[in-house]
Amino acid sequence: MSNQALRSAYAVIVIGAGLGVLTTGALLAKAGKQVLVVEKEQHPGGFIREFRHGPYIINPAIHSIMGCNPAGPLGQGVIDAVLEHLGVQDQCQFIRVDPFYRAQFPDFRMDVPLGRDAFLDAYLHHFPGDAEGLRSLVDLCSASFQEAMQFPAVPRWQDWLLMPFRSPKIFRNATSTLAAVLDRYLSDSRLKSVYAVLYPYLALPPSRLSFFLWSIMMASYIEQGAYYCQGGFQNMAAAFAEGVTKHGGELILEMPVKNIRVAGGKVQGIELQNGQEVDAPAVISNIDVRTTFQDLIEADQVPTSYLRKINDLEPSASVLGLFLATDLDVQALGIPKVTLLSSWDLEDAYTAALHGNPKSAAVHVPTVIDDTLAPPGEHLVIIQSFIPAESARLSPSASAAYAESLLDLAEQVLPDLREHITFMVGASEEEQQKYPLQRLGPIYGWANSVGQAGPRRLPYKTPVSGLYLAGHWTQPGSGVWTVVLSGVNAARYAIGKDMSQAIWPLDL
Ligand SMILES: Cc1cc2nc3c(=O)[nH]c(=O)nc-3n(C[C@H](O)[C@H](O)[C@H](O)COP(=O)(O)OP(=O)(O)OC[C@H]3O[C@@H](n4cnc5c(N)ncnc54)[C@H](O)[C@@H]3O)c2cc1C
Repeated sequence: MSNQALRSAYAVIVIGAGLGVLTTGALLAKAGKQVLVVEKEQHPGGFIREFRHGPYIINPAIHSIMGCNPAGPLGQGVIDAVLEHLGVQDQCQFIRVDPFYRAQFPDFRMDVPLGRDAFLDAYLHHFPGDAEGLRSLVDLCSASFQEAMQFPAVPRWQDWLLMPFRSPKIFRNATSTLAAVLDRYLSDSRLKSVYAVLYPYLALPPSRLSFFLWSIMMASYIEQGAYYCQGGFQNMAAAFAEGVTKHGGELILEMPVKNIRVAGGKVQGIELQNGQEVDAPAVISNIDVRTTFQDLIEADQVPTSYLRKINDLEPSASVLGLFLATDLDVQALGIPKVTLLSSWDLEDAYTAALHGNPKSAAVHVPTVIDDTLAPPGEHLVIIQSFIPAESARLSPSASAAYAESLLDLAEQVLPDLREHITFMVGASEEEQQKYPLQRLGPIYGWANSVGQAGPRRLPYKTPVSGLYLAGHWTQPGSGVWTVVLSGVNAARYAIGKDMSQAIWPLDL
């Protein structure tokens, strides 16, 4: 792959090779458009890029995804449908992650399986008193998912008017937080914490998290399945990249876009870091929307009201984590791929983490389902918790305390982990910190709050004519499944398809 554009003009240029626009680029190429994808890093994939450290393959920013199922109670998964359409399905295999996760509290633990009935059975075993509420909640998530998939990608005014009749579940809960809905359906406060312990997958605690986004995520994971990409998620990025090039699109790597050229409020093309100018009537940006508008475009080409709107939005939290390998006999310990540990008060645990004192963490051991990621006899362990989106670096002592807290939490499932560390990302002889924390984020673009969910996120279309957004800074939201959907919709825009069509079945 080169790091020069081969032509001086394209039908569409996409900026960044995250899963959002890799989807767009591949679909446009398959539709016969001359498309150029420009990525600043050495490999495509954005957040799903892996790091290789000798024999260790580490996916720091992706743990499970949904939408990879060829069939299921809610139909074919979006990712499976796109890979099939692109003819690259055989480039990556997905492993079903079942049990999906373990919920672990100070005096309680429970493994949560996939599948509606198995999921309910597991909960009812521990919380029989809330059986009716639990069943209703699971059914509500499922109905919301189905309504969301039937909703137009870009609703017209009449779609909003008809929403109470066509999408009654979403309409009723559109402005509800997860906490509000839990209060409506469940009475046992411990059950509410156990059920909501997956909130880190949307990076906001129940009191602020959009129930709409939660319902889509839960229905999709529980009923369609949670998946890990065999050999690491770089294989999935490579499959989407192959989807671009095999259909005649161009992908250039290690070449940042320096400017988006705009004149008279209309996009003209881009300028690459190497000075090459490339023209296109349509540009789709996958990168941080603040960078897109504040750094890559002349300020006088963007309405100030739009810049103000971007400034007013809240980014999602970031994470701090440790990436290590251990020679502990993890299989003998019987732990699942993901354990979500927390104190009972999820709100307090989230806030404590933001203040540098994590009382909750996700402990991922991907090697329990894919032993190709580490040498024989070793397991990878990723331990992560939250910090504010763009806070200053922690002082060495605060950083050390944070890392020790993460290890204390992890030792609840991996006893004596500290004595069994065989490798640690970032560790070196000169390294001052014993356990070097790695920072990532904002992990989901904008925070997944009620006011920034679904259609309340920035639209695909921007005030600059010909400039569109894809990825987790735009609709419908964050996470791999969702950004693939955003990539589909951005491609539909660029091809000139009817955006008032339902999201599903995908109009590719
Ligand atoms: C710690 C963590 C855990 C996560 N866990 C999960 C999970 O388990 N499941 C899940 O579904 N989601 C998870 N996510 C979220 C998910 O990874 C993201 O929502 C999704 O991958 C974002 O994709 P994107 O296409 O929007 O953009 P990105 O992946 O951010 O891609 C943007 C791309 O643009 C490139 N770029 C930036 N600037 C330029 C420039 N000037 N020129 C050219 N290229 C540029 C970047 O290098 C990057 O490749 C997690 C995220 C994090 C950080």
